[in-house]
Order: sequence, then structure tokens, then C-alpha cells
Amino acid sequence: MASATKGITKLLKTGILLAAALPQLPLNAARSKPDAQFGPSNPFYAVSPLPLQAPPFDKIKDTDYQPAIEAGMAQQLEEVRAIADNSQPPTFENTLVALEKSGQLFNRVLPVFSGVAGANLSPTLEKVQEIEAPKLAAHNDAIYLDSKLFHRVRAIYDERESLKLDPESLRLVNYYYQKFVHAGANLSDADKAELKKLNEEESTLSNAFSTKLLAATKAAAFVTTDRNALAGLTDTRLKGAEQAAKERKVSGYVLPLQNTTQQPDLASLSVRETRHTIFENSWNRAEHGDANDTRDTIARMAQIRAQKAKLLGFPNFAAWKLQDQMAKTPEVAVKFMDELVPGSRSRAAAEAKDIQALIDTQKGGFSLEPWDWDFYAQQVRRAKYDLDEDQIKPYFEMNRVLQDGVFYAANQLYGITFKERHDIPVYQPDVRVFDVFDADGKPLALWYCDYFKRDNKNGGAWMDVFVNQSKLLRTLPVVYNVANFSKPAPGQPALLSFRDVTTMFHEFGHALHGMFADTMYPSLSGSQVARDFVEFPSQFNENWASYPAVFDHYAKHYQTGAPMPAELVTKIKKSAKFNQGYALTEVLEAAQLDMQWHTLSTDAPREKTDDFEVRALKSKNLLLGAVPPRYRSSYFAHIWQDEYAAGYYAYLWSEMLDHAAFQWFEDHGGLTRANGDRFRQMILSRGNTEELGKMYSSWLGGEPSIEPMLKFRGLVPETNNNN
Ligand SMILES: [Zn+2]
Repeated sequence: MASATKGITKLLKTGILLAAALPQLPLNAARSKPDAQFGPSNPFYAVSPLPLQAPPFDKIKDTDYQPAIEAGMAQQLEEVRAIADNSQPPTFENTLVALEKSGQLFNRVLPVFSGVAGANLSPTLEKVQEIEAPKLAAHNDAIYLDSKLFHRVRAIYDERESLKLDPESLRLVNYYYQKFVHAGANLSDADKAELKKLNEEESTLSNAFSTKLLAATKAAAFVTTDRNALAGLTDTRLKGAEQAAKERKVSGYVLPLQNTTQQPDLASLSVRETRHTIFENSWNRAEHGDANDTRDTIARMAQIRAQKAKLLGFPNFAAWKLQDQMAKTPEVAVKFMDELVPGSRSRAAAEAKDIQALIDTQKGGFSLEPWDWDFYAQQVRRAKYDLDEDQIKPYFEMNRVLQDGVFYAANQLYGITFKERHDIPVYQPDVRVFDVFDADGKPLALWYCDYFKRDNKNGGAWMDVFVNQSKLLRTLPVVYNVANFSKPAPGQPALLSFRDVTTMFHEFGHALHGMFADTMYPSLSGSQVARDFVEFPSQFNENWASYPAVFDHYAKHYQTGAPMPAELVTKIKKSAKFNQGYALTEVLEAAQLDMQWHTLSTDAPREKTDDFEVRALKSKNLLLGAVPPRYRSSYFAHIWQDEYAAGYYAYLWSEMLDHAAFQWFEDHGGLTRANGDRFRQMILSRGNTEELGKMYSSWLGGEPSIEPMLKFRGLVPETNNNN
């Protein structure tokens, strides 16, 4: 993931990542003087003297962040107030360029704080996060609803054609104008007040949803004192369940619920009744008609969002939300999803048939239900592929994967080289730093990696920047990747699963998007692009992990250096297509549900959520008994709590872009400098400097086709050649 979309910290979840480039100021806030504690002794006070302005982690203490953030906001506030109050007529320079230059102290400290809070949290940082998050979140509304500032931006926008701006500057004009309009700056005062009211109610309901869901999920854990009910779980897993029971002060075993419909333990639990109960617990977690039932909350939220959209001049919430996305309209996103339905349905049906056959062979005497799927799918997988992780891992030693895989592919494609350096301070001893040099030997970026799991690190993997590239500010990118690979004992090699290997390539794809950034304005730089585009460079880069010329170069036994036996390689490739019908269908169902909730019109009655859900899935030919949506509406936190409302389709959309792009590479000779340089020049270096759909199609030479994605997922009939 890129943190721009997933949010590493509470700060980022509120969209504050953009603060790295954007002024997000409390224009209405009191003009507080910078905090008394903030002065030259604070390491953020001046520009870092380190190469590429790398953060001086050897000098930064946890207590330095808060005064710097507060002083940074106050400073930026004054700068932006001066822009809004300027008595000169608005010009591109005195308004938009001035906004881009404002807030440099703030932009020095916030990305560093966010990075460290996400990857190396301490109680002090957690406290700062709690205190500052609401202040930072409030700034966004404050600036984008400031009429004085908006008048200047609009005046420039109205004259944009006659200003003779270069394309990137013109894009900046559009970017700011859209941001303001999107936030409601164009509304009358009465409508602004109404919008504010709706925003507040939505935010209250969203909090209520989150609280209810947390409690409901906790309460829906599977609890038993009967060890036999848990047959099939490994000893480690059983110990975990015992431990969970102890923590809750109950006797026996507790299996807490995960956020998705399907629960990982269902793949191992052999007692069907247990599986059934756990599934029902999951499916109905927030629908018990008690205080933690979320259905009324979300039905009201859907109404409020529709009303907001109407106020802002759109037929529905999705239409408003998708304006600045690559898909642009809900119709385009829905058409794309609809095209995926037949292939994914029929693939899932074929998988169901395999599973039912296995159940019948075992004389099960029942029809496949969702709680049976993973349990039998695992058996089908073993029978078909017999893939043993322990056999594979010795061929994926982390350093070799990094140097001979990730770096190698980037070198072959783009000519860039890497050199580890040990003189740049880091926030934790496991973090490593590399100089990145361009093909001509000039410094291009600094790249940090922080790969090992820690208790004070968020789960998952992500990329972000400490310093954003900008020609205006004369900065080069300082980029980092974070992951959660198991840390080996001292002196032992870190051996990875192929999934981890893929993660390294994925995050490095985001990193390339940041490192190749070559734009004037910080707001348009690097991976700060629409949600349905941001995962494209990263997912695209994953393709090189299994590309033969790259794979063969890094997949060597860590002791003997022997290449991976062909038989194992084949198994890895084949098992990658396993269960893809189910995997795609459950995501597709959730994405369609999301879009249907957010294309409700304003005058639609408050929905009964269960009826609505059944109707919505049925209308898309996706009401499939054995394959339920990945999230049911009543626990779909992405859309009611996080930032993915009308945006869940983006995962699938980016996937289409990535496979179509890789197909282009294959059609043009694959891993070559010519292909890489063209991709870098037309996509990776360009951030958000052009309309993303145009940028993509000029590079591809046409519109992206869905076929390569279907082929990759194994959703179109295999042709005769056996690959
Ligand atoms: Zn990503």
C-alpha cells in the first residue's frame, strides 16, 4: 500500500498526508505565537544539513515533534493569511505559488512525525498524535472554506486560459480550484452552514459506527471450553486461543473475529458446526438489534452523504467523490466492475464445483456453504499444488532479494544504482539507508527500508516520504519503505515467503513513483495521485518478482547459491492462480455494494440495510450463496469509517491498469531500458501533473483493456499453450 491511501497513523487517516505538500491551515484559529519551547535548539527549526535534507534522527527527541508541529502550523497560518489578505490582485505567483511555498517548517516536521509514529510508536508520540489529530483535521475545512482565499483562487481559475501557463502550472490551477469546490467553497453562506452541519452529523455517525463495530466484533468472538470443537487448529494457534481467553478472563478458548467476513481459522477447523457458528458470528456481528447494531447508523449516513452531494450540485455522493479520480464518474467505475462479473462468477462456480466434488468424495453429505469454502479449498490446493513454504523460503533470502531482485530489476529498467550508507542517522537500528544514483551517476534520492516486524509498528507494509521532491523548493526525494517481515535470530538469514518478496517489489514500486518525481510543485509530486491510480505503479512493479530474467537472478539457495528447481517455480506460479474466482468475487461484491450505497439519490427513503444489500447484489448478478461479500454493509469499515466511501473499486481498477501496463511491456520486449525509460518519463516522473487518464493512455497508446487482468486472474479460458 501507499500510505497516501491507507493511512499509517491517525493523522494520515484524516488525509493529513497531503500536508507534506499542501497548506492545511487553521485560518479561523487564533493567531497563536509559536510555542515558547520552540527555538533554535529544536532539530526541526532549520533545514536539515544532512544530504538531501534527510531528517537528523540522531538529534530528534520524541518531545521535539509537538512544539515543531504547533509552531509550523502557526507559521503557515500567518503565511496563508498574508496570501488571502494580499491587497494586490490575485496572480498565479502571489497566490498559488505562494501557497506552494508556505508551511516549510510544518512540512519538515509532519512527514517525519507521521513516519516515526507509524513505524516506531512510543507513548509520547501516541499522545502527540491524539492531541494534534483533531487540530490538523480541522485545518482542512478551515482553509478550503475560506471565502477570501477562494475568491483569489477562482479569479485565477476563471482567467486560466489567458494566463499562458505551462501545462503543469495549469494543472496546479485546476488542482486548487477543484479542491476548494470539492470542499464546498463555492456555496452560499447558508449552504456552507448546512454542509458543515451535515459534515458534523456524518462524522458523529462515523465515530458511532466505529465504536459500535469495535464492541460488536469483540462480542462476536467464538468462545468454547470444548477443545474438540477446535479440532484442526495447530498447537500454536490453540495456545493463542487459550491466551485470548485468559486476557478476557474467561475459561477455555477464544477465537477473536477478524474484520472480514471469512475468518482465517475456518481453513483449518474440521468440525463443521464450529465453522458454521463462527461464520454466523462474523456475518451477524453488527446485526443483533442491540446497542451495537450498526444498521440504522449506516442507513442514515448514506442519506446524509446523498444530501451533501445534492448541496454540492451532484446527483449522488459517488458522483461528487469521483470527480478527481481517474474513473471520474460512478458510471465508468460501475461499467468496469460489471465487466468483471461474468468471468469471476464462472471461475468461482468452477472452484465451488471442485470443492463440492471433494466434499462428495469424502461422503460429507451436505452442500457447500461459505463456512466450508476455505477448509476444503485448502485441501484442493494441497492436492493440486503441494506447495510447501519451508521448501521455498531458503531461495528467498532478504538481502539477495533486495540486491539481486528489487534493485536489479530497477537497474535493468531505469539504469539506477544503489549504495548503502551508514552515516545517515536512522530512527531505529534495523532501518537501512541507500543512496540512489541516476543512470548518469547523479544523486537521485535517498531510500530507507525498515523491513522487520516490531511491536510498536503498524501492521502491513507501506511507502511514504520524509522529503517531497519539488523543483520549486529545490528538494530531492527522501523516500522510505516499511514492512513487517519476521526478524531472524542474530546471525541468521531472513528467509522470506514469496508473498513477502512480492510485498518488497510492491512497496518499491511506490518508492520509484516517489524517487523519480520530477515536478515543479510539491502538491503534484510523486505518489500524491488519485486513489484509483496510486496502487498502479506498485502493483505494476510486482510483476517483475516473477519475471523469469529477474526471478532467476535472485531466487537462489542462500547456502548453496543453487537456482530454485523448475518444479518449485511451476508450483509457485500455478498456485498464484488458485482460488482467484472466490478472491475476486468477494471483493467485487463489496465494491459493488459500496457503489450502490453511494449512488442513492437524495430523495431515496432510508433503506433497510439487509433488504438493500440483497437487492443490490441481486441486481449485479452477485447474490451467490457460497461466496458472500468480503464485508457486509453493517461491518464495512472501509466505507463508513475510513476514506474509501465510493472508492473501494479502486483496488480493482489499479489492478486493471497494472496488468494492461505489464502486457504493454511484454508486447514491447519486456525488461529493457528503452521500455523503462519511457515508463519513467511518461508516468513515474510525472506525479499528478496531468489528468491521470490522459497520462496513462498516452503512455499506453490507447485505453486500458480488462483482458490482461482477467487472464492473470485465470478468469478467461486457458489457451492451448501450457503456461
Ligand atoms: Zn500499495
